[in-house]
Amino acid sequence: MPSVLHGLSAAPGLAIGPALVYRPSEPSSTPTELGVSAQVELARLADAMQQADAAIAHHEAALTQANRLDEAEIFAAHRMLLADPALQQQAEAFISADELTAAEAIMRAAEIQAQLLEELGDEYLSARAIDLRDVARQVQRILTGEQTLGERLAAPAVVVAHDLGPSDLMSVPRDFLLGFALAAGGLTAHSSILARGLGIPALVGIGHDLLEQVRDGMTLAIDSQQGALVLDPDGDEQAQVHDRMATAAAREQELRAAARLPTVTRDGQEVMLVANASTAAEARAAYEWGAAGVGLLRTELLFLERNDLPGEEEQLALYRAVAAELPAQPITVRTLDVGGDKHLPAFPLPKEDNPFLGWRGIRIGLSRPEILLPQLRALLRAGAAADIRVMLPMVSSVAELRQARTLLAQAQAELAAQGLPYATDLQLGVMIEVPAAALNAAALAREADFFSIGTNDLTQYTMACDRGNSRVANLYQPLDPAVLRLIELTCTAAHAHGRHVAVCGELGGDPLATALLIGLGVDELSCAPPALPYVRAAIRATDAAAARALAAQALAASDAESVRRLLSGALPGEYAKIEP
Ligand code: PEP
Ligand code: MG
Repeated sequence: MPSVLHGLSAAPGLAIGPALVYRPSEPSSTPTELGVSAQVELARLADAMQQADAAIAHHEAALTQANRLDEAEIFAAHRMLLADPALQQQAEAFISADELTAAEAIMRAAEIQAQLLEELGDEYLSARAIDLRDVARQVQRILTGEQTLGERLAAPAVVVAHDLGPSDLMSVPRDFLLGFALAAGGLTAHSSILARGLGIPALVGIGHDLLEQVRDGMTLAIDSQQGALVLDPDGDEQAQVHDRMATAAAREQELRAAARLPTVTRDGQEVMLVANASTAAEARAAYEWGAAGVGLLRTELLFLERNDLPGEEEQLALYRAVAAELPAQPITVRTLDVGGDKHLPAFPLPKEDNPFLGWRGIRIGLSRPEILLPQLRALLRAGAAADIRVMLPMVSSVAELRQARTLLAQAQAELAAQGLPYATDLQLGVMIEVPAAALNAAALAREADFFSIGTNDLTQYTMACDRGNSRVANLYQPLDPAVLRLIELTCTAAHAHGRHVAVCGELGGDPLATALLIGLGVDELSCAPPALPYVRAAIRATDAAAARALAAQALAASDAESVRRLLSGALPGEYAKIEP
């Protein structure tokens, strides 16, 4: 009887094959052997750290050359971790004072720092602890001659491990890694990000049962969508997985072929389909999937994992690089949105009792013009040669929009005085993420050039439930009629003033919600590049007049579950099929 273990879907897809259980060996914790001096161990440590740096630099260069810039950045960050003098000094102290071997010393030094990061209780920093351990393990492997995961993998397999670091994944030829399942790990861990980028089906956070129940060579099937790992599937189940993989491959081909079909409803209403991105590489993926521009360029990435603020030129380079991937198409850039659960090392935020209700998004930008002004200047300069639009996060009042406009005018005046080219007619929009902004949309619409609804935060604030807190996850329902009512209100107010409304939260990428959003009056949908073909298909399968009736029904529903049932029942039979 096959058993099934459950985990979080870190990267989508199906995989089936023999298990390879990967257990990196612990370094010996015995003190340095008699006769081997600490001096020798110190020299071996320094040498191994140099070799590890060269290996990581090699991964970084290979990914950069393949234009996989997001993944390359992971390894650039690893090199910074390795270069941190505190790590080497701590390891050296363990060798000199405690007579540990170099391999044990580096692991222990990294462990101490990793635990400090984990104790901060922040998901992002906990994920960096995994990176730190990964970097130290590479040094350890060089010192002990232990095989890498890639060296262990002689044939295609589903890898099972407590955890995997980016260097483990990079050591494996892509064809040999069918998928992986981890006892630990999180969705924002770099191994998860790499898996999504490389298209490797992956489950994480399965728990201790995983390593207890899986044996080398046992057949495993990963069904990422269901978050399921099937142990020892029988013949019928194996055949089913193979069938579903063949269907998924055919569907992918069909979607690729349809990537440039117009995003028009059956009855001729145009819906703009654009992408969410953070990097030029994602903008390229957006272009490949036929996006008509970028609907949300998140700019936080440029500010994270560094101890200084990025300068105007560096920001300008990112905006230009993104715009170059989608020539002549609109690129809507969100100004820096930190606070809440996002922290900047270069700009430590004070501890607050309610950070999601505190100093966040535009509130920080307006009170710290030294952060917002260089960003506006860079956007204005990029806008001289591209269709750059700017939107403000977390707006709650018209006053905030006015203050931002004043800063924008100041940035324009400065650039004019310096004789630098800049956009004179840059559109300035607001994100509708706070119920107050939706309820006061008519006043905002008089002064904002466009709206973009951030359904992730709008749901969090409407339902008064932290979007990252699993204890209240049952309340986090973007399809709740309360949220839908705010979306409708926003669209009605915007259209009365001739303004355009986008949805750029996760709901915009959910094909189940596409007809509903069109029916509520949304003009533009923005979603992660991999969701683009599905939303495109859903737009093309929608009848806008029927969608309006559907939206009216959804608004009258009593809860999110009823709305979900309504939408599932209303999907046209042809939805799954893309018409040429
Ligand atoms: C949103 O809140 O829906 C949104 C798009 O912003 P973020 O998810 O970055 O907070
Ligand atoms: Mg938001």
